[in-house]
Amino acid sequence: MSILKCENLSVAYENMVVFENVNFEIEEGDYVCVVGENGSGKSTLMKSILGLIPIRSGKVEFLNGLSKNEIGYLPQQTVIQKDFPASVYEVVISGCINRMGLRPFYTSKEKKRAAEVMERLEITSIKNKSYRDLSGGQQQRVLLARALCATDKILVLDEPITGLDPIMTDEMYKIIKEINKKNKITVVMVSHDIESAVNEADKILHIEKGVKFFGTTQDYINSDIGKVFVSRERNVR
Ligand code: ADP
Repeated sequence: MSILKCENLSVAYENMVVFENVNFEIEEGDYVCVVGENGSGKSTLMKSILGLIPIRSGKVEFLNGLSKNEIGYLPQQTVIQKDFPASVYEVVISGCINRMGLRPFYTSKEKKRAAEVMERLEITSIKNKSYRDLSGGQQQRVLLARALCATDKILVLDEPITGLDPIMTDEMYKIIKEINKKNKITVVMVSHDIESAVNEADKILHIEKGVKFFGTTQDYINSDIGKVFVSRERNVR
């Protein structure tokens, strides 16, 4: 059952077209990795789905009861975000903000949800720590917890493992897979790490000015573009 559909989607910054006529559908329970060269438009695609940047033409449709404010989003980390002056708890519970409307306080249900998510990601013991004092791996966990606070349905993760050491990277992938397989939350994850993308995801969306490939990981590995991309990455390692 589809929950998100992009139809003939085109996005441009001023006059620079990033991609055109992008078509794909995300099904409930999918684990999709979005891959492509640097600058190919992966982050832009995620932001346009979330309504954070304007669409030039085409449309993004939320289906089967999904609404835009029920998407959990982990943005690419910037230097400014890394220095964010708030506690872990404040960052996590701020994931509920999209669903609050104009209400200026968190309900007990939202507080309980934040507590559960922190427990789930094993960050309860650092909940009063300042976010900016955490390691990169802890910060990514906190941001994942924040995204989970926002949704029971779909996570959009933009490079969630960037800057993490190999152990933390493995841990993060394990958590994301569990969230997808056990909690049945759909995952759409941007990754520059093609090797991990084909290991982790069930489907691959390859972006380069438009959709170069969308389908199962196995079909991607066997496709012309997949063969080039995957083997090039393996040779670099
Ligand atoms: P990716 O995530 O695949 O690395 P991006 O979506 O970040 O690619 O960027 C796609 C293209 O759009 C790049 O050429 C980038 O320089 C450009 N771009 C990204 N953000 C902006 C912006 N805010 N204003 C203008 N151009 C941008």
